[in-house]
Amino acid sequence: MKQPCFIGIDLGTSGCRGICIDDVGRLLASASRPLPPSRHPQDGWSEQHPGDWWSATLEVLQELQVRTPNHQAQALSADGTSGTLVLTNRQGQPLGPGLMYDDRRATAEAELLTRLAPDQAVLHSPSSSLAKLLWLHQHEGLVPGALALHQSEWISGQLCDTGGVGDENNCLKLGYDPVQQCWPTWLNELPLPHSLFPGVLAVGMPLGRISPEITAATGLPSQCQVITGTTDSTAAALAAGLEQPGDALTSLGSTLVCKILVDQPLQSAQYGIYSHRIFGRWLAGGASNSGGAVLRQHFSDPEIRELSRNLNPERSLCLEYYPLPGPGERFPINDPGMPPRLHPVPKDKARFLQGILEGIGRIEVLAYRKLESLGAGYPVRVSTSGGGATNAYWEKLRQRLLKRPVRIAAHPQPAYGAASVARRGAYREG
Ligand code: ADP
Repeated sequence: MKQPCFIGIDLGTSGCRGICIDDVGRLLASASRPLPPSRHPQDGWSEQHPGDWWSATLEVLQELQVRTPNHQAQALSADGTSGTLVLTNRQGQPLGPGLMYDDRRATAEAELLTRLAPDQAVLHSPSSSLAKLLWLHQHEGLVPGALALHQSEWISGQLCDTGGVGDENNCLKLGYDPVQQCWPTWLNELPLPHSLFPGVLAVGMPLGRISPEITAATGLPSQCQVITGTTDSTAAALAAGLEQPGDALTSLGSTLVCKILVDQPLQSAQYGIYSHRIFGRWLAGGASNSGGAVLRQHFSDPEIRELSRNLNPERSLCLEYYPLPGPGERFPINDPGMPPRLHPVPKDKARFLQGILEGIGRIEVLAYRKLESLGAGYPVRVSTSGGGATNAYWEKLRQRLLKRPVRIAAHPQPAYGAASVARRGAYREG
């Protein structure tokens, strides 16, 4: 008899990855397909073709099916880049390109939203899907009956032929209120028809069985359920193993992102802090402009690896750096004009690197203290993901500064988090 398995699909910027896990969360198989690079038809624009997301998803599902001959998929769930928007008709056909999370065209619309919804930090950037939707309305006009969906919501709808249903995490950037669990009434002040906004379900809810066409195209069993998904960063937090309040995840990528699982939602427009509801708890956090982008300005990755080997995590240089790639910081210090603090520069490159890594480590402590001051509590333990997570020196240093155990994320791939959403969703239904 075939054993049950669960599939997660992660739609990233450069590729689509799928992961299959068994019913205790063991990794069974993974597969990936690259996506064509985003197009930039104008300065600040960033677009992809939804058809490319779709064909990559189908190929990944086919390969996972071939790689797990002794298992039978019970459920699948998808996550996608947060804030990536596609307009569709009621049959789910895209009406234009996908506007990617990093598309910056909707600056005027973001300003309007800052005035209209001053408390909703998540909407104050051109990367919010609501700002993008306003831009599309203003510049392209909207077809009657159009529906606004995020990347993974669209994929999920296609897989089970349900048209468009949103999930609470993705829809946060479209203005959804996850506390009241509704679209807020202030949205009526915008020149957008209410019919544009999809119905919204919590993360991990059954949407429907995969359609017969998908069974035929991928070989997946017809009883496989599609489960509502989430954003890429929430999927990454689930993959990292965050389960209990106080579990935190620091992402050491180009930027420094700190998230913590809490019982009550936190938000602060001033510091760009917001919360995603996930399985009855809240994932709260914010992003600093500091992070690996500063390291890249001065060091290659092999250089960082080599130089870090001889650094002593027990002794600090106390150079008091605040490393930023350019002026301006939002979290944990809100100062749009804040200059990078990277002086004095020691002659020895290893000491310079150490100063930067210490500086980013101190910002991480400040970030968790800021979240604590807003009611999050201080982390109990901290998982780490991103390019900086593998640096053993940095891990020990951060552990000393944070005064908490620090470990590498249990699974680095958001697709693993999406698979765990599928597993929870399948058992919830049962
Ligand atoms: P992105 O946010 O762009 O996806 P990644 O998670 O791929 O970033 O991480 C890339 C960043 O990690 C780069 O900015 C790089 O400087 C940094 N990095 C790479 N290797 C190391 C290392 N050994 N120690 C610390 N930082 C590193």
